[in-house]
Amino acid sequence: MIIAFDDKKQYICANRAIKSQKYCCPGCQEQVILKVGDVNQPHFAHYSGTVCATFTENETAQHLSGKLQLAEKFKKYGHVQIEAVLPEINQRPDILITLKERKVAVEYQCSPISQKRLDERNAGYSSQNIQVIWILGQNYFEKSMTQKSIVKFWAQKKLTFYLPEKERFVYRKDFWKCDFERIHYLEWMSHSLFEGTTKTQGINFKIEKQIYKLQNLLIQKRVDERIVRYLYNKERLLLHAPLWMHKGHTFGLTIPNWHFRLLIMLLLERVGQENMVKKDDISNKLTKYLMGDDDFKHYQIALIFNDLEKNHYILQQGQHLLVRRLPNWHTSLSQKLCKMRDK
Ligand SMILES: [Zn+2]
Repeated sequence: MIIAFDDKKQYICANRAIKSQKYCCPGCQEQVILKVGDVNQPHFAHYSGTVCATFTENETAQHLSGKLQLAEKFKKYGHVQIEAVLPEINQRPDILITLKERKVAVEYQCSPISQKRLDERNAGYSSQNIQVIWILGQNYFEKSMTQKSIVKFWAQKKLTFYLPEKERFVYRKDFWKCDFERIHYLEWMSHSLFEGTTKTQGINFKIEKQIYKLQNLLIQKRVDERIVRYLYNKERLLLHAPLWMHKGHTFGLTIPNWHFRLLIMLLLERVGQENMVKKDDISNKLTKYLMGDDDFKHYQIALIFNDLEKNHYILQQGQHLLVRRLPNWHTSLSQKLCKMRDK
């Protein structure tokens, strides 16, 4: 930790503290030691054996220096406190910004955190009406994050990183993921928080590859037998499915995109052409195949509805969908590939 109490109960930052003075932890009130080295950021540490519920000791130099840099940068937004202790919820955000009428907690996350811990912290802040921003450290920036991990920190439609060595924020948004391919996203760098971009990116993927990869899975019997059998009973083959099924790029799915889109097509078929259905009825059947919180799920489903509408399969009317026409199943794979090449 960077902040401790001096003997007058004043908050003191470690880089202004003196070795000969006595300092206490603002959380547990126990005495702490000032640690000053050539390499590490000056910081305070509990004596071994102290059990402190508010501060954990395993902070890296990167976390400490990043926290100080961020605090400096946030001063323009309002009153900034480093490691402010919130006794009501026994939490201590890395930085607490007090603006005119609201409070924003900033968590600078450099180490792994479980979904459960993250949810608990978010719930704590929410109970105090404090908005929270998760900013990820260098480690997260450097490793390739899984979909699950990205969805965990996804907020305001993006991920935010801070790199102390470069003194820059990095943002990632517009995540998309095709089957059999890596994760794609748009990334940009900035000096300040809350900075958007006007950039957009097109999604380019090879539909032919998607078809052949799925064909391979079928040959290797790696497609759920129940799907194949279900279609067979309806005198259909998976590879004859409409081209739309292969064009999926929805991020944060727990099943492949083709499978997700197959389910959507079957749902629309059940509604039937020129019939209306409540959007929620469809959404509720799809959300279980998505990771993340309700915000994330509804955003992804809205994107899918827009995609269906763009293809003239549905028309969105307030809380309802009208099924305009159903995607065409093909009579053979060669006919389907011809159709694809015609376009
Ligand atoms: Zn303590």
